[in-house]
Amino acid sequence: MFVLKLTLRLTLATLALPALAQTTSPEFARCLDGLQGDASKAGVTSSTYQKLTQGLTPDMSVIEKLDYQPEFRSAIWDYLSGLVDEERVQEGQAMLVRHAETLKQVEQRFGVDPATVVAVWGVESNFGQTFGKYPLLQSLGTLSCFGRRQDYFRTELYAALRILQKGDIAPERLVGSWAGAFGHTQFMPSTFERLAVDFDGDGRADLMDNASDALASTANFLKKAGWRTGQPWGLEVRLPTGFNAAGEGRRSKRSINEWKARGVQSVDGSPLPDDAGQAGLLTPAGPNGPAFLVFRNFDAIYSYNAAESYGLAIAHLSDRLRGAGPFVTPWPTDDPGISRVERRELQGLLILRGHDIGEVDGMLGERSRAAIKIEQEQAGHEATGRGGLKILNTLRGG
Ligand code: CA
Repeated sequence: MFVLKLTLRLTLATLALPALAQTTSPEFARCLDGLQGDASKAGVTSSTYQKLTQGLTPDMSVIEKLDYQPEFRSAIWDYLSGLVDEERVQEGQAMLVRHAETLKQVEQRFGVDPATVVAVWGVESNFGQTFGKYPLLQSLGTLSCFGRRQDYFRTELYAALRILQKGDIAPERLVGSWAGAFGHTQFMPSTFERLAVDFDGDGRADLMDNASDALASTANFLKKAGWRTGQPWGLEVRLPTGFNAAGEGRRSKRSINEWKARGVQSVDGSPLPDDAGQAGLLTPAGPNGPAFLVFRNFDAIYSYNAAESYGLAIAHLSDRLRGAGPFVTPWPTDDPGISRVERRELQGLLILRGHDIGEVDGMLGERSRAAIKIEQEQAGHEATGRGGLKILNTLRGG
């Protein structure tokens, strides 16, 4: 496929790391000085604290991120089409094969099946390929001193300092998401301390470089979050015409018999599972989109990152890894979301039209969205900046 080859070449040609903002800030230095007493109460020695926070500069870009989280802002079909696409299903299936022996042992010890563990891995870090690029002490330090939720991030900052003090990870390796999640499993530092597992027995839980430790730690997380071995997360269902879903949700659990009595059916006509306890009803895009009954195991997945769209991405990817197809009911839109391959293709087409969008990364960031807006205007579409199938098809044809 010509376009795909082109976009891959562009990816390599434009690969570059963004420069880190390095500005000193007396306010930041004063704030960090002020936190040392609490850090000491939290078990961080003053020499550790001094050594690791000295000369730290704030990165104010993480404060902007704090107020913009894609799982809450994107349409559900855009969010899912980037996270659960053919590419990720195929890579996940390759990982199931490559790590089959470890995954079997993990299932024996923690009771969580391979497809679920690998699905979390795929959504969290793209199977260990995307860890984030933010030095943790810098991002957590900044979040501890500026913006909302400072108390929460201070707790995580002290946990990160304790981890480094203990020597499980070298300071320069502690790099992760803007919010402080790191490694294959994208655990927050306090989650690392509570739940990371040294599965290969080399003396340290290594979620940066060791896939076995990471897979076991994910399973341990789900187990501690109440995972029920052998039970499904849920399933896609069909609602009868005129069904009133008002007030239903993940938390309002009802018995399967009650759902049956209200006319809820599985999309493939198989009987609803009646041995997995009560279920809640999710209709993430309203009454005309896909609907799901979700059991206790969905709550366990949800607790990994407190967003239902996120839980659905992992749940659906796990089904796809087991061989299931896409959702049966289409999303209620005439402009469906696009996969990462299609997003890279769209970016390649934007570049061919002379837009400077930076690297082709399939992410559709700020510059891509600005270019999409211009092309939408020219095509007579609503200029939203959103990259969907409609503008992709227009640029393919034009
Ligand atoms: Ca280990």
